[in-house]
Amino acid sequence: GLPTQPPPHTPVRRRTRQSRVGAVPVGGGAPISVQTMTTTNTADVDTTLQQIAEVTAAGCDIVRVAVPSQDDADALPVIAARSPIPVIADNHFQPRYVFAAIDAGCAAVRVNPGNIRKFDDRVGDIAQAASAAGVPVRIGVNAGSLDPRLLIKHGKATAEALVESALWEVSLFEEHGFTDLKIAVKHHEPTTMIAANRLLAERCDYPLHLGVTEAGPALQGTAKSAVAFGILLNEGIGDTIRVSLSADPVEQTKAGCHILASLGLRPRKLEIVSCPGCGRLQVDLHRLVAQVEAAFDDFPHPLRIAVMGCVVNGPGEAREADLGVSCGNGKGQVFRHGQVISTVPEDKIVDTLLEEALRLVEGIENVSGTGGAP
Ligand code: SF4
Repeated sequence: GLPTQPPPHTPVRRRTRQSRVGAVPVGGGAPISVQTMTTTNTADVDTTLQQIAEVTAAGCDIVRVAVPSQDDADALPVIAARSPIPVIADNHFQPRYVFAAIDAGCAAVRVNPGNIRKFDDRVGDIAQAASAAGVPVRIGVNAGSLDPRLLIKHGKATAEALVESALWEVSLFEEHGFTDLKIAVKHHEPTTMIAANRLLAERCDYPLHLGVTEAGPALQGTAKSAVAFGILLNEGIGDTIRVSLSADPVEQTKAGCHILASLGLRPRKLEIVSCPGCGRLQVDLHRLVAQVEAAFDDFPHPLRIAVMGCVVNGPGEAREADLGVSCGNGKGQVFRHGQVISTVPEDKIVDTLLEEALRLVEGIENVSGTGGAP
């Protein structure tokens, strides 16, 4: 029945301290959250809020907005107040925007204390303001903006260099008694990023934000992030994730949700079990799968749907799913929980699956309504 069970062997999580980004706990056993970053001009409040609504609908838990100018800082109070999910203000250089973000009601701030100390040493003031507002700080170290001192020492942005930089930046806050921190060490090479996060996990108990930075276009970036996050998450490392793609933040969010769901770390809303197709196909399978995915995109209940190209594996997979279709000769045999319920022409398959899904959910709601399983 629904919802589809999580897979066995779900990883055991590393114990960390816990931060609260608004209503979303991070670390300390909390569910792993998915983040993304808006690509709009932050100062354009309506467009930014529209994009935040879209990523929220796609499953995003926390959203980050860049604050490179005073106009962007001025937009933060309205964005923070109207966003349905917590907003993190991303700031690299100017302490004054960090204070503005905290005053604006942002749920967290991302800073680069190395830069702040270099330009205007106000780390202590930031620690004090963040502490008074109960706002956690995320320290983000990227290979591309590594402290030149460490670049010289290590020769390049090695895992060790990234970790040394992050822990030094952490120490700047710790000196002021501030420990409500999350850390990210990002690199475009998954292997370096994995090594850096393993080291960091050994050396501190702060929650870790995973990211493969500049991961590239959608397919390449998703593969890189899935490999890196998958390995770390399977070892219990990682408390919040962001898939960076040169693609829409909605796509980044969906990729993050799929990665977590693949390890049983987040319930899957829609799982499509579909075959790649081969010379046995007698329907346009790829089009059919895309149509099923689109038709069920905002279906409100978790569901596993099998869409199989022929009778070799079709009936077997279709039986394991909540709903399934096994195709052949321009037709589809539709299954519900293993029972064949109808055989319909190719162009009626999607509608039939949708109708059956609604019937299935209705049945479950009726059972719950009469004191059945919650
Ligand atoms: Fe080919 Fe049939 Fe397997 Fe799909 S289910 S890949 S069509 S053999």
